[in-house]
Amino acid sequence: MASAQSGKDSGVRLLLIGPPGSGKGTQAKHLTEKFRVPHVSTGDMLREQIRKGTALGEEAAEYIKDGNLVPDELILNMVKVRLTQSDTTGGYVLDGFPRSAAQAEALDGFLEKRKEGIKAAVLLILDDETIVSRLCNRRVCPECGRVYHLINHPPKTEDRCDEYHCRATLVQRPDDNEEAIRNRLRIYHDQTKPVIAFYRDKGVLREIDASREILRVQIDIERALEGDL
Ligand code: AMP
Repeated sequence: MASAQSGKDSGVRLLLIGPPGSGKGTQAKHLTEKFRVPHVSTGDMLREQIRKGTALGEEAAEYIKDGNLVPDELILNMVKVRLTQSDTTGGYVLDGFPRSAAQAEALDGFLEKRKEGIKAAVLLILDDETIVSRLCNRRVCPECGRVYHLINHPPKTEDRCDEYHCRATLVQRPDDNEEAIRNRLRIYHDQTKPVIAFYRDKGVLREIDASREILRVQIDIERALEGDL
């Protein structure tokens, strides 16, 4: 893999790995603002397809509602199209992708052809019971995507987004019910854990304790990335 170590590749290509509810989306948003690169979240892209009622969205919805992985082929086609768009030339933050060994291999092959590499893979570590509690209490704004927690980070007005221009009614993601959450965790342990080994072997894995408060995790990530970019 062509990598940062060559010194010639200035692209900020980062990815976040972690169980559902470990804060990938929140931390990805911060990183994309800091490095001025796009946030590429496969979960958000799929939900967008569902909202638009496309054939891909219809197919994906069947997997997502139960917390199962959408087949690799569908995901890979979608991601490859996204990563060839012009706004990604300076890099991107991948969130929720790759989620299986096959996806990691495919991404690697795709990047290799372009003589590019992933600069760092940030692993957010969090235990299962904390995740279940976080996700059961998670509410999201369907308009602006802001994320709330009913106990730790509630909206100022019940069920309403705090954003002045938004104020939309908050919703619970259909896959944030306990059964789907436990299935997503099972899948994370079975299918996504090999992705961790993949990036560890490449020497780009950066491990972060995600149980701490958002700002603390953010600082830890920034420190861990020093020297990578
Ligand atoms: P997320 O918003 O990242 O939690 O993703 C929500 C759901 O979208 C997951 O539970 C999967 O059903 C599906 N999904 C997102 N990213 C992927 C991926 N890389 N591979 C397969 N399925 C995915």
